[in-house]
Amino acid sequence: MAVMSRTFNDVDLSDPKKAADYVKRKALEFGADAVGIGNIERWSNAPLQMDPKQIMPECKSIIGMVFRVERGSLRGVEEGTYFSNYSAMGYGGITYLYMPMTVINLAKSIEDQGYEAIPMGHQSDWRAIDNGGYMRKGYSRPVRPGQASPDVMIHLRIAAYLCGLGEIGFSKMFLSPQFGPRNRVGIVLTDLELEPDPIYNGPKLCNRCMACIRNCPGHVFDVEHPIKVNLAGHEVEWANIDIEKCGTIFVGAEKAEDPNYEPSYYGDIHKGYKPGNWSPFYKKPRNLYNTGQAVCGARGCTRACMISLESRGVLQNSFKEKFRRRPTWEVDWSKEPEYSEGTQFRPEKIIGDKAD
Ligand code: SF4
Ligand code: SF4
Repeated sequence: MAVMSRTFNDVDLSDPKKAADYVKRKALEFGADAVGIGNIERWSNAPLQMDPKQIMPECKSIIGMVFRVERGSLRGVEEGTYFSNYSAMGYGGITYLYMPMTVINLAKSIEDQGYEAIPMGHQSDWRAIDNGGYMRKGYSRPVRPGQASPDVMIHLRIAAYLCGLGEIGFSKMFLSPQFGPRNRVGIVLTDLELEPDPIYNGPKLCNRCMACIRNCPGHVFDVEHPIKVNLAGHEVEWANIDIEKCGTIFVGAEKAEDPNYEPSYYGDIHKGYKPGNWSPFYKKPRNLYNTGQAVCGARGCTRACMISLESRGVLQNSFKEKFRRRPTWEVDWSKEPEYSEGTQFRPEKIIGDKAD
């Protein structure tokens, strides 16, 4: 038996139109739910620390891919009984497990044909800038004069926009015409020239309904001072977000009036936090797949937005039944819990009981 391997340089990708078709078919085959392409010129105004050319100076094209968050992964949070599924399967698992497989496979199929390709999902844990875009002091330094500090991180939602995959909503969530706000985004940078897709100009997705703003349990949006940016010649606007507060609310925590409040929702890590009425947990559950800790279940920016978009009939991934089927819930932490019939607690240990 001879060694078997993949074949190399057997597909002619010199025509950008044919190459784009080839790459898109591969991306869907490898597991992306939608794929679009942006030419590198669209990033010409990118800030230094988010500039793809800082990573790959010869980059010609960026391939953007949408990975759906299954509507079903939000069901357990909606019903208030099963929170881990969204954090695992709809969040961390897509980001750190499923998406890397797709972007790696796509990059390999491009490199098979002699063009370099960088697979990129979420490596934001290593980025040099904080959530506000500012350099983290004492984190890293440029290796050559004039270069960005490692790690550069390409803004994924903006990349999806520049690849023609959809809009950025007023919530700053990326909205696709297939799934609305239910997306994670992965990209591949390549020196292969690919025919770009136009910036999204399909049916309007965000209609400023403000459902995201009204339903966010932490009221983290400042609608009076929206952020306005120009992306490849298009004016885009979103509400200013208190990212730090979102990070707290997201995991189910609320700052207690007493800074020494015990037991803190974060255990010994941060004192003075209690569970919000959007969390049924006494303490923050462990992260799943690194970033999976979405106890708020994206109540405003994803669930409310999705319900709004679905009710307007603008999403391609439509469902036979509406998402919200029962009244919404809130936990009243001022009262003792009422456990339902069928809940079994381990009996108190009886002295002299040798059963265990
Ligand atoms: S909830 Fe409404 S305003 Fe907010 S992003 Fe979605 S469509 Fe836009
Ligand atoms: S993740 Fe939760 S707290 Fe953050 S914006 Fe969305 S709904 Fe609000």
